[in-house]
Amino acid sequence: MTKDTQAALIASAQRHLTSNYRQQPIVLVRGDGCWVWDVSGTRYLDMTAGIAVTCLGHAHPKLAAAIATQAARLIHVSNLYYNELQIRLAETLVQRSFGDRAFFCNSGAEANEAALKLSRRYQAVVRGRPERVEIIAFQGSFHGRTIATVAVTGQEKYRAGFGPLFEPVRLMPYGDESAARGAIGERTCAVIVEPLQGEGGVVVPPSAFLRLLRERCDATSSVLIFDEVQTGVGRTGTMWGYEHSGVVPDLMSLAKGIAGGVPMGVLLARGEVARGFEPGTHASTFGGNPLACAAALAVLEIFEEEGVIENCRAAGEYLQRGLERMAQKYAPRVKGARGLGLLRGLVLAEDVLPLVARCRAQGLLLSAAGGTVLRFAPPLIVKREEIDEALAILDRVLAEPAA
Ligand SMILES: *Cc1c(COP(=O)(O)O)cnc(C)c1O
Repeated sequence: MTKDTQAALIASAQRHLTSNYRQQPIVLVRGDGCWVWDVSGTRYLDMTAGIAVTCLGHAHPKLAAAIATQAARLIHVSNLYYNELQIRLAETLVQRSFGDRAFFCNSGAEANEAALKLSRRYQAVVRGRPERVEIIAFQGSFHGRTIATVAVTGQEKYRAGFGPLFEPVRLMPYGDESAARGAIGERTCAVIVEPLQGEGGVVVPPSAFLRLLRERCDATSSVLIFDEVQTGVGRTGTMWGYEHSGVVPDLMSLAKGIAGGVPMGVLLARGEVARGFEPGTHASTFGGNPLACAAALAVLEIFEEEGVIENCRAAGEYLQRGLERMAQKYAPRVKGARGLGLLRGLVLAEDVLPLVARCRAQGLLLSAAGGTVLRFAPPLIVKREEIDEALAILDRVLAEPAA
């Protein structure tokens, strides 16, 4: 197919899709590992992994086979009945995390929505304190696009024009212990926080901040929710992002990488808090269907078989060293490199969208985080040579005079 086909498809997209995205002008049709191809046959090195989703890369043969086999056996039955794969996946996630129980849904926003609803109901019904309704969240955060999750998202661009939002919510400065100490009190229902802010600019908070949140939530019996939609499932070099600080939440939301690209959200809960959900209080039609669960189980199996987390840790450190060299070479335009595992940010002194476009024109896919941060979130199976190639392209782009 030709560039004309691509231009025609984009023209159709602009007529037939709602205009809520600012899309790069390529139409992707195929992938393999860390590479994707557009409809005109051009190949790109994918350092976005579909926004930290395709943790095993594109078209992993074992994952693809697991999905195909399950599709031919049973795709969906609803939660009117048990299904074997959902039970097996819940067992596995509970064994491998702090959680005692799992609720399945289909996206990160839904997992956070479930976390907020469960926290409210836990306080009101289990603890008998219906007045405990306030949610503490943080500036720069991202928790999703539903009305409740944008209300706890601390970035005005995601909230503007959608009011009135879910309330009461208090947005506190991220990483600020003394502000959080004062805010978490007798009105607090729950605190929702990313153990590393992804969309907000790949920001790693001090461990002491997360410890303080745990202490204050314990002291006030507030629910501590970790949004690990982006940091969970190996992305930071440990299975869960909370392992870096050692701070264990009461609820943890997952999505993005959990099923390797098949839509799935999960809420993991400590048993005591999980008591807030009784039969009929919450549900999802698609949540935890056999197809998505087969994909997630295959992802977890492949993680073990192929040492995916070990690769993530080693490749992440290698990438960090490369980004630090880039920061030195292009200072002060490039201010530094940060992150954990294979969630890394190169911090610039300028809006990075023009750089994202120029990298793409040279065959490298990257995304922006927080406006001035170039985000690297490649498949967790990325090889050193691929990182070298990405850094070489970025080096060429940064060597050109700024547009
Ligand atoms: C992506 C993301 C979400 C939203 O997930 P969706 O699947 O798009 O609803 C929520 N929280 C964090 C931390 C995310 O990175």
